[in-house]
Amino acid sequence: MQFEELSRLLEEIDKLSGRTDIISLLSSLFLKLGKEEVGPASYLLLGKVAPDFEHGELGLGEKLILRAISRASGATYELTRQRYSTLGDLGLVAAELATRGTTISLLEYTREGRGEHGKDARSGLTVIEIYHALKKIAATSGEGSQETKLSMLTELLSNSSPLARKYIARIVSGDIRLGLAELTVLASLSKAFAPDDKEAVERAFNITCDIGLVASTLANQSAQGVRRIKVQPGRPLKPMLAERSSSIDEILRRMGGRAAFEYKYDGERVQIHKSREGTKIFSRRTEDITGHFPDVVKAANTKLSAQEFIVEGEVVAIDQESGRMLPFQELMHRRRKHGVEEAMSRYPTRVELFDLLFVDGRDFTKEPYPKRRNRLVQLLSPSEDMAAAEQIVTDDHDRAEAFFESALEDGCEGVMAKTLSNKVGYEAGSRGWAWIKYKRDYKSSLADTIDLVIVGGFHGRGKRAGKIGGYLLAAPNGQGRYETACKVATGFSDEALVEMEDKLRSYVTPSRHPSVDSRLEADVWYRPAIVMEILGAELTISPVHTAALDEIRKGSGLAVRFPRYTGRLRTDKSPDEATSTQELLEMYRSQLKKL
Ligand code: ATP
Repeated sequence: MQFEELSRLLEEIDKLSGRTDIISLLSSLFLKLGKEEVGPASYLLLGKVAPDFEHGELGLGEKLILRAISRASGATYELTRQRYSTLGDLGLVAAELATRGTTISLLEYTREGRGEHGKDARSGLTVIEIYHALKKIAATSGEGSQETKLSMLTELLSNSSPLARKYIARIVSGDIRLGLAELTVLASLSKAFAPDDKEAVERAFNITCDIGLVASTLANQSAQGVRRIKVQPGRPLKPMLAERSSSIDEILRRMGGRAAFEYKYDGERVQIHKSREGTKIFSRRTEDITGHFPDVVKAANTKLSAQEFIVEGEVVAIDQESGRMLPFQELMHRRRKHGVEEAMSRYPTRVELFDLLFVDGRDFTKEPYPKRRNRLVQLLSPSEDMAAAEQIVTDDHDRAEAFFESALEDGCEGVMAKTLSNKVGYEAGSRGWAWIKYKRDYKSSLADTIDLVIVGGFHGRGKRAGKIGGYLLAAPNGQGRYETACKVATGFSDEALVEMEDKLRSYVTPSRHPSVDSRLEADVWYRPAIVMEILGAELTISPVHTAALDEIRKGSGLAVRFPRYTGRLRTDKSPDEATSTQELLEMYRSQLKKL
């Protein structure tokens, strides 16, 4: 298929808002593509060229894209920038400037020695050609790579029509704007190729985190092929997630009277994979973070006696003198590209392992928790730097409470209850009652911390004049949109405010991002990217905010009352993974029950 045709379909999808309509159109698009195009197109639709764990995100800098648009269209950089501040969308700028008749001909362009062009602009490029070109851009690194990326992107844009430029620009900026969450693409693939096997398709995605792999398997081998996709060390699984409860009695009731309780450590979740190719560490967002933790790699290689495995645990920062656990913030010193060795000796860690998903050719994800835990304990020689999570199994309320208190004393956030049922395995990618978290925060007024996405900023007053003094936060609604839930201005030190403003600078958009639903006008708008953890007093009905609009009361949404920044940015969560509007609704309802 020509990329031009794909762009036309994307243009149609852009006009739709209902998820069902989008899925219909997208599934017919998948059926029109050649089999070999389905995988690449699935990546492109999500603004990437490979799965996240292979660093597949393009996310080229705004400046570089603007320069490429300007070069490809012949418009000056100033004009390009100006149009961007008006239109607020690199895609629209690329399309508009291309139609202004300012495009320099390819011949001229080549004569100027700026690039090699094999094709005439009018003939356009195919989906596969665009995919490979973008893949090449993504893979270019090292010295001089910015200039190389710039000329490659310029060439690509020059070879494309205005409409195709619009979508190329959106793809490379990682701002594809179709409201296409992974789950929407997945549902469309199921509809196209395996309408009766939706669950198998979802499982395949949850155990591989690779939309392109699932898509091309579906296109070539339909549902049977997808069922053959296996858990494989080296390919991360989506993490299993927990529900929350504020009562041990409720937890025991839900778990059939008896449950395992583990310490809930306050660190960073890691999935450690060992295969013949080596040992890798993946984050909760399934990114490859091996480079940050050479010490964890070493511990895993020496303390776990198997050739191949996948285990999961929490990395925590440890105080060198006392060996006690330190708060999560200390661990963030380890999230750096340079000076890893030095950081390693200043901020030592320990891994508290809490699950095992695969060992030496055997997939454990369908096995119940007690079996997985037993195998984990068998495999491990515990030491200072790697241990199995503290655990008890009990049916006794008081014993569970006492265990919770000792978890807090030892510097944990609370406990994690796990079902002993032999009907439940490791449910990759799903949040359910097989795991229930019970935290210290539950003893304060609002049942849990909430993770919301920063979508806007407000100028400060008084002492904070001249700075951004507060932020507008929103919750993802599960369909690619962000609905506002509060303004937060407390909990920030002066330094934190400055740091935050710096951090957010590259996400500023000239106007409200189209995926944000807000009734408030912010002074500065941001592309939804950064997730902030807050604590609040309670959830209330609000005529001002749009989270879960109309769900409780017509015309009103839900808002967090007295929100306070906890000092923690959730870099381990993508904006889609922040607390959803659905979760806010559940929290609101459970709050009512307690009254
Ligand atoms: P989510 O539930 O989406 O992960 P969250 O990160 O805000 O949201 P938390 O309240 O941090 O939720 O609880 C879940 C996290 O607790 C896990 O993702 C994991 O990182 C951490 N954790 C710590 N100890 C354990 C344990 N023993 N078992 C499972 N998870 C644990």
